Amino acid sequence: FTQKIAGDGAEAWDIHTRAVAMADAGADVILLSMGDPDFDTPPAIVEAAVTSLREGHTHYTGFTGEPALLKVIAAQHAEATGCDVTEENVVVLSGAQCALFCAMHCIVDAGDEVIVPEPAYVTYEAVVRATGAEMVGVPMLPEQHFRVSADTIRSAVTDKTRAILLNTPHNPTGAVISPQELQAIADIAIEHDLWVVSDEVYASLTYDQPHHSISGLAGMQERTIVINSVSKSHAMTGWRVGWTIGPKELSGHLANMSTCMLYGCPTFSQHAVVTALTAELDELDIMKQKYRARRDLVYRQLSQVPDLHCHLPEGGMFIMVDIRHSGCTAEEFATQLLDDYGVSVLAGDAFGASAAGHIRLGLIAELPVLEDACQRIERCFLSLRK
Ligand code: PMP
Ligand code: GLN
Repeated sequence: FTQKIAGDGAEAWDIHTRAVAMADAGADVILLSMGDPDFDTPPAIVEAAVTSLREGHTHYTGFTGEPALLKVIAAQHAEATGCDVTEENVVVLSGAQCALFCAMHCIVDAGDEVIVPEPAYVTYEAVVRATGAEMVGVPMLPEQHFRVSADTIRSAVTDKTRAILLNTPHNPTGAVISPQELQAIADIAIEHDLWVVSDEVYASLTYDQPHHSISGLAGMQERTIVINSVSKSHAMTGWRVGWTIGPKELSGHLANMSTCMLYGCPTFSQHAVVTALTAELDELDIMKQKYRARRDLVYRQLSQVPDLHCHLPEGGMFIMVDIRHSGCTAEEFATQLLDDYGVSVLAGDAFGASAAGHIRLGLIAELPVLEDACQRIERCFLSLRK
């Protein structure tokens, strides 16, 4: 087999798979390892899909997406960023993951380099390597609250660099890139004529400062590909609808990718997403309030534990906990936590070396369950602490 997508991060989920098997066998396990919202998709969205199916939307559709959905996405992006975009700038693909994969194939070739601040979402390296390009990781350090540093990005630019891949709000750190930080990165992209791929799947989940898209900065619209989806914002991970917003010329290339990979995305899923993006849905506010309350609870509980350090996420649905004073690696800690205390989390190492010694908790359970999980994490940590 080809090694093109070796390093796809698949093994990061081994602990999750084991935890699910334990839970299925009746063990008392709290699953916080995968970023899949514990909320159901709001009923009005489900109804829209059912209506679409009943109306007979069961055939092939266009390769860039349903016109009504393209229009809504373009209008909302234009309003949020001031970008001059129409439906011709948008391509709907099967989730943000597929959008990332397709977009990367359209802009980089074998031998190119893509700069990625690390820690980074587990699939990024494989997405870059599948094109034959190399991912050049630049560290975001826990000592600097995992903030992206434009200086480290600048120093990683070579004559092979084609793109910078950003993620804000960030998985796993929860950092939200500030307008000033975005401007510094935009300056580099413009100076060196680089693409920016901006993964904004957690854009609607910010707690302290609003989300900003780099695409809205002067000179950036023509070199930015925004990646987004409804997976997290609307608890729709299983519907597989995501999209790209980029220059019009990109859309044709992406449509070709879509033609040879997907032959379009399910029409009824796309109709449901039109409702998701346009209907007044109280559930979305409730979800966001709950995520915030969960974040605050976990941060408060775990920050009280001596020598355990939590990073307060500004956005997203994860919290990173520094367990280095346990004397264990994150993988050892996560294994012990699952086997002896019944809590499943991911080891930070899966996201890159600078997240070593950290565990990632998904904020995907109700408050009493998270409180229980925090107590178990505390007991595990105190039993190991050297
Ligand atoms: N990017 C990031 C940062 C993610 O965490 C995920 C997983 N939710 C994805 C992309 C893929 O999202 P989707 O379900 O829309 O494919
Ligand atoms: N994005 C989710 C996470 O980070 C998981 C997506 C997946 O692997 N199915 O946990």
